Amino acid sequence: MAIEETFAIIKPDAVKAGHTGPIIAAIEENGFRIKNMKKVHLTRAQAEGFYYVHRERGFFGELTEFMSSAPCVVMILEKDNAILAWRDLMGPTNPAQGEPHHLRKRFGQSIGENATHGSDAPDTAAFEKAYFFSCFERI
Ligand code: ADP
Ligand code: MG
Repeated sequence: MAIEETFAIIKPDAVKAGHTGPIIAAIEENGFRIKNMKKVHLTRAQAEGFYYVHRERGFFGELTEFMSSAPCVVMILEKDNAILAWRDLMGPTNPAQGEPHHLRKRFGQSIGENATHGSDAPDTAAFEKAYFFSCFERI
């Protein structure tokens, strides 16, 4: 195992519903170190840039409208094998398919409004961290 960083978002649905605190608690209880964190309200264009890889998907409009609808909390998390570990803690994209301990099952509403985001590989983690945090902000 190697110490690794991943990029995470507490999405607008979860922030609006007051789930920021419990999600941050779960992050720390599961051994992640929060290296950077801030609250941001994305513009539509910023959401489209972030989800660029999904631009051809049918849900792109719905997704970018949702992600720019209200503030979210963005974070860089550190842990051994953080990328996989964070995706394991979130659970499947569709909250309905998760188990009771999964964050998306606990706090998500639907496949679109599913409470949290996590990078899926080292290259996407690098892109996503740099999208939100400049090197001057990094701790
Ligand atoms: P994940 O976030 O688990 O990596 P994807 O990368 O496939 O999932 O999709 C990115 C995000 O797009 C999802 O987290 C979800 O918010 C949204 N999404 C994915 N599939 C759908 C869908 N079928 N309908 C609506 N929104 C979706
Ligand atoms: Mg993804």
